[in-house]
Amino acid sequence: MKFSFLALARQALAGHGGWPAQWRMPEPKPAYDAIVLGAGGHGLATAYYLAAEHGMRNVAVLEKGWLGGGNTGRNTTIIRSNYLWEESEAIYEHSVKLWETLSRELNYNVMYSPRGVMMLAHTIHDVQVFRRHVHANRLAGIDNEWLTPAQAKEFCPPLNIAPGMRYPILGAALQRRGGTARHDAVAWGYARAADRLGVDIIQNCEVTGIRRDAAGAVSGVETTRGFIATRRLGVVAAGHTSVVMAMAGVRMPLESYPLQALVSEPIKPAMPCVVMSNTIHAYISQSDKGELVIGAGTDVYTSYSQAGALHVTTHTLDAICELFPDFRRVRMLRNWGGIVDVTPDRSPIIGTTPVPGLFVNCGWGTGGFKATPGSGHVFAATIARGEPHPIAAPFSLDRFRTGRLIDEAAAAAVAH
Ligand SMILES: Cc1cc2nc3c(=O)[nH]c(=O)nc-3n(C[C@H](O)[C@H](O)[C@H](O)COP(=O)(O)OP(=O)(O)OC[C@H]3O[C@@H](n4cnc5c(N)ncnc54)[C@H](O)[C@@H]3O)c2cc1C
Repeated sequence: MKFSFLALARQALAGHGGWPAQWRMPEPKPAYDAIVLGAGGHGLATAYYLAAEHGMRNVAVLEKGWLGGGNTGRNTTIIRSNYLWEESEAIYEHSVKLWETLSRELNYNVMYSPRGVMMLAHTIHDVQVFRRHVHANRLAGIDNEWLTPAQAKEFCPPLNIAPGMRYPILGAALQRRGGTARHDAVAWGYARAADRLGVDIIQNCEVTGIRRDAAGAVSGVETTRGFIATRRLGVVAAGHTSVVMAMAGVRMPLESYPLQALVSEPIKPAMPCVVMSNTIHAYISQSDKGELVIGAGTDVYTSYSQAGALHVTTHTLDAICELFPDFRRVRMLRNWGGIVDVTPDRSPIIGTTPVPGLFVNCGWGTGGFKATPGSGHVFAATIARGEPHPIAAPFSLDRFRTGRLIDEAAAAAVAH
């Protein structure tokens, strides 16, 4: 006989009227006006805005694991909008503006903390590139400023700016409105708010097939909990998008890579801001619990493993110890990985697909957490109206056919 705490608890509760209402998980209904596949931050935000702004309340979010258990719960929470091209500036700035009022909107403290994101320049090339970004951002009304090494140290006192370092600091670009938020709270906040508007969030429900009618349009999804009918399906399954879209016969221009991060043991407040170095592939901030949150680069090889190669972390820690010698004796507490999906032009895909009723939102690579509110907001509008929201329009899947690529320069392999 199989032993299961869940089964025992269910038996025990059976005689007392079952689970209390607030613990009961919704059962899938036979049909929904829209289904969102994936209960990460983007999927939950999409469902929330579908209900809150488009009056669509007969909506389900289907999740194969538990809500927020994918990249949303695994990332290092860097938020910024100082991207180079207008298309990217528009979506990420839209998002930062939503972050600024999100706790109030959801009535849930997502702990958005605009403590400043500083991007270090180590080479003449970095200096030229970041200064260009500063000018481009300011022209677009987005805050970004150039700091000398001494100003960078003043903003972040533990930073080592000694000359003769292996990775000398030649200056930094600072976005003061950039910062961090509490990743779990973002997922829970959107989930609770969506749930209160009538959205069904169904966990442990993996989508295993996409059914299409005689005209080729979406008619529903096969899941581990049976068939569920819908005419609108929004796929937001970071890392697994290609697998899911193949169920509808759509081939995606995506590669999936492991990306990893780690935290130190908790220490007293020492890092006042977020510091990123794209050249070294290292970035660091401090959580409210006191842990130093450190992100590393992606693996070189594609994989669905949620753990990255050890040498990637070792390289990152070498760099962090040189940039912040004070942290050399701090011990690592734990590390983990996620799977990010990357497009050829390092920009996301948000919009319609060749299959009527099928919408996709993916390709955020290493940097989609910051986009969570903005992405959900424009994706919900796209699903509700059946055509791309103006901010989403440039990020169409079709650009890989027409060649109108975005090629975002401020989103390299590890540029969050
Ligand atoms: C280590 C690491 C650090 C990062 N750091 C940052 C950062 O500092 N700043 C930043 O902006 N971004 C960062 N990112 C990227 C960011 O985490 C992602 O871009 C973002 O969280 C994607 O959100 P999502 O909701 O699309 O995906 P997810 O949270 O991954 O949600 C997708 C969900 O789909 C579900 N799913 C998949 N297949 C199926 C199926 N067949 N049926 C049902 N459900 C399915 C998955 O279980 C998952 O829960 C980082 C990522 C990692 C891994």
